Amino acid sequence: MEHRLVNLTKAANLIRNSNKICVFTGAGISAESGIPPFRGEGGLWNRYDPHILEIGYFLTKPKESWEAIRTIFYDFFHQVAPNPAHKVLAQWESDGKITGLITQNIDNLHAQAGSVKVYEFHGNCDRLLCLDCNKSYPSLSVDLKELPPLCPDCFGLLKPDFVFFGEGIPPLAYQQSIEAASSCDLMLIIGTSGEVAPANHLPHIAKRNKASIIEINREPSPYTKTITDIYLEGKAGELLPELNDLINLNN
Ligand code: NAD
Ligand code: ZN
Repeated sequence: MEHRLVNLTKAANLIRNSNKICVFTGAGISAESGIPPFRGEGGLWNRYDPHILEIGYFLTKPKESWEAIRTIFYDFFHQVAPNPAHKVLAQWESDGKITGLITQNIDNLHAQAGSVKVYEFHGNCDRLLCLDCNKSYPSLSVDLKELPPLCPDCFGLLKPDFVFFGEGIPPLAYQQSIEAASSCDLMLIIGTSGEVAPANHLPHIAKRNKASIIEINREPSPYTKTITDIYLEGKAGELLPELNDLINLNN
């Protein structure tokens, strides 16, 4: 059998035989839904300077930061839909295979696809938070024509409720993610460059606890040669349905 099919079959067998899978996703899984990732081919950092998402920059230059944020995250986020990769993962959860899905994404697509145990390590762009009075608003209800948007109640600055560079991880998601990574027997790493800390430590926790590691990416990451057991190179939206077909074929 060709090498690719051998790897796919091995991965399908591991997935079929596990009911304690922890999934760890990054921006790559949403690329085929039309949301560009930060790094890799077509990544946003080829067009924007990452400092626009640093909390210090946001607080001193909210208008400049918001202009980029609106273009990247809000102009089209509400029109995008889950792709086959998100859908296969939701199916595997309802089949009782997945015990937790940790995502670094803020696009809400896993929940839209039907995944329930989703731990949003970097928050979500669906809500905006007032930095003065702490009220939060659905982002769809806020007019983003005038930037920066201000709190209708107290005129404080509104910030997307996702984690900026330099901010802490939401404590509940952090705790749930550590638990999910420590208790799985198989981790699927999908579409992440593994460059953003502390999220990038989670696969190492799984590995230390003897989980097998399957990685799906379009190009190798820092995990590929270090902790990955089976590396599947390609698009998540194609490989996950292929794996699903292989699993169902032999059932
Ligand atoms: P990243 O942008 O650093 O890396 C994306 C990775 O996905 C790369 O390794 C790339 O090779 C891979 N990739 C690209 N297309 C793919 C595909 N079709 N199938 C499989 N893999 C593919 O992403 P990251 O590691 O998640 O870190 C970036 C941070 O940026 C995250 O914290 C996330 O919050 C944020 N972000 C989120 C979104 C989103 O919510 N969709 C989009 C951009 C950035
Ligand atoms: Zn307010």
